[in-house]
Amino acid sequence: MRYVSTRGGIEPVSFSQAVMMGLATDGGLLLPESFPQIDEATLKQWAGLSFIELAVEVMYPFVGEDISRQELVDLVERSYASFTHPEVTPVVELGPLKILELFHGPTAAFKDVALQFLGNLFELLLERSGGRLNILGATSGDTGSAAIYGVRGQERIDIFILHPKGRVSPIQERQMTTVLDANVHNIAITGTFDDGQRIVKALFNDLEFKSEYTLGAVNSINWARILAQVVYYFYAWGRVSGGDVNHPVTFSVPTGNFGDIFAGYVAKRMGLPIERLILATNRNDILSRFVNSGVYSTGTVHPTISPSMDIQISSNFERYLYYLMDENPAAVKALMEQMNSEGRLEVPEEKRVEVNRLFYAAAVSEEETQSQIRETYEQTGYILDPHTAVGVHAARAFPGAVCLATAHPAKFGAAVKEAIGVESEPPPSLQGLMEKEARCAVLDADAAVIKAYMKSTLAN
Ligand SMILES: *Cc1c(COP(=O)(O)O)cnc(C)c1O
Repeated sequence: MRYVSTRGGIEPVSFSQAVMMGLATDGGLLLPESFPQIDEATLKQWAGLSFIELAVEVMYPFVGEDISRQELVDLVERSYASFTHPEVTPVVELGPLKILELFHGPTAAFKDVALQFLGNLFELLLERSGGRLNILGATSGDTGSAAIYGVRGQERIDIFILHPKGRVSPIQERQMTTVLDANVHNIAITGTFDDGQRIVKALFNDLEFKSEYTLGAVNSINWARILAQVVYYFYAWGRVSGGDVNHPVTFSVPTGNFGDIFAGYVAKRMGLPIERLILATNRNDILSRFVNSGVYSTGTVHPTISPSMDIQISSNFERYLYYLMDENPAAVKALMEQMNSEGRLEVPEEKRVEVNRLFYAAAVSEEETQSQIRETYEQTGYILDPHTAVGVHAARAFPGAVCLATAHPAKFGAAVKEAIGVESEPPPSLQGLMEKEARCAVLDADAAVIKAYMKSTLAN
């Protein structure tokens, strides 16, 4: 499989080049040249596979030529051995409500599904090339810890994660700073998350530094992250339908950067019987406004109890736009240029109608999120985390929908407690964090300071 850019400015690249490149060099996002088509007989057969077996089948057509089947089997087995549930991503049925639990990985949020795989994939590709990688990222909470757990202990990778000092939850901070492997470097900056992002951007734009130190990114624009997430849509469909190809499923997806829900779109394009994709946002509603109006325009970010979806620009949206614009890179480029200069873009009415045929979108308020946690708890005894509750609420008009559970409720214990008066029992990965030894540098929110720190750390 070869990969092309949404903006059409690069020669097609291989899977491993796409993984190492992250963002395409023309500023676009990378996508496969075509989608493998899965026929009905194969779908039926896949419905009987374990998560690990299925992951190999789903991913192989996308990585083949670059990675052998046996290498992929090894990668997948190692990546999901860190999950504590034997099914990896089980579906829990609570009467008509179906929950796809994606939080059984080492950091108790769904980003582990992708970042455990990406970490091992980086290792394989670097061993082959003999190279090294220095990952640099800024986090507001979940991504940082999942990325750190994805590459901890690896010999060819150092990881530097910036978080705003005192502005991530105590659990999130501890999840990062208690990882003591020599290749993990946590930096608390005396500033905001936006400062962190600004610094990371500045260092990536420092081309001399970037190439001398082979800086790499782990944000959700990496194609391998999307690919790993496609697997659980197939898995959940198999569990819920029993392999009946006349049994389409609707998925509800709590959405921020459009990565998770785009993976659902890819599954649909491969032939998975998906009826609707419910795009659920909190009050940061840029994406739900787009689905309902055809206008994509940024607003200000409001902090909510589902903080991992507090964004106002969705980095993966451009991937969907590419298909909506009939795979025409010139049209995508024009729309993205309009977005850059005017802060908004708009698609024609017939395109909006097309979006609505597959996507249903709802923005869920803080009150609705809280009352959904309460209602589900009262009716079933099951505790939803606030992100998952956003998705469950948005799916109210779709009985039987499979709702993606993106975080363990104990990770957002304060919001859960406020809704139902009790906290959820933490999984083993979240226990004892406060007592563990931690390591973290505290630095000024200044790109030059961070650069100097990275250089001196790597010189040792
Ligand atoms: C990152 C995250 C999301 C949003 O996922 P996207 O792929 O950015 O849409 C939802 N819930 C949780 C808990 C997350 O960490």
